[in-house]
Amino acid sequence: MMVEGLYTKREDGRKFDEVRPMKAKVGIVPSADGSASFETGKTKAIAVVRGPRTLHPQHMQNAQTGILRVSYGMMPFSVEDRIRPGPNRRSEEISKVTEWALSSVVDLSGFPNTVVDVFVQIPQADAGTRVAGINAAALALAHAGIPMKEMVSAIGVGKIDKTLVVDLNKYEDSIFHDGEGSTDIPVVMTSRTKEIALLQLDGKISVDEFKETIEMAKKACDDILKVQMDALKNVSEESNE
Ligand code: UDP
Repeated sequence: MMVEGLYTKREDGRKFDEVRPMKAKVGIVPSADGSASFETGKTKAIAVVRGPRTLHPQHMQNAQTGILRVSYGMMPFSVEDRIRPGPNRRSEEISKVTEWALSSVVDLSGFPNTVVDVFVQIPQADAGTRVAGINAAALALAHAGIPMKEMVSAIGVGKIDKTLVVDLNKYEDSIFHDGEGSTDIPVVMTSRTKEIALLQLDGKISVDEFKETIEMAKKACDDILKVQMDALKNVSEESNE
């Protein structure tokens, strides 16, 4: 059941549960251990993986397991207003939540005392960059051969007035900020067990709307997973040639 509201038609003509056109590519940086890109509409994320390698300084090592370390950043000209280069509060937060989401599927117990670094960069942003970054990072980790219990796919669900929509673009992201009781909910879902690896909720939402959000996220993540699996399949075919 779709929750009725004032936002009756999407500005780009998409259905409420429709993800923007997606593109994924694996192996975009030949010198890296793993790499991938993921695009949805005008939002583009690139992820590069390095490791596992011995972690320095030594006192940060964990003798039981390797650790995952994520760095997320938006490139200065990724949006119309130039972004100041370097870390800020937002990029620190997104790096951390990305790390948490991916850590729930990555198994580094076979690589004690090591670190796996994931660098996520956003060359072009039109909202939904953290979820695009997670989709790219999961692909890059799989490409690097890092043991993963399952894949993860990520999507943002937003509430514009009373209407729930998936994969907001920047226009929708800005109008929903003006709406009453609006919210934007990034959801990361695991591929096999359909568990929620991350959910960020900053706003008001009813229980029914929340249930609908999860259903919409699940369906969108299934669509995203297909695109991710195709990208992984194509790279293995290329490397077998
Ligand atoms: N954005 C921007 N300048 C910034 C940060 C974000 O123009 O300093 C834009 C960008 O298009 C981004 C969107 O605002 O994708 C939404 O940002 P948010 O923090 O909600 O995270 P995201 O949706 O990208 O995960």
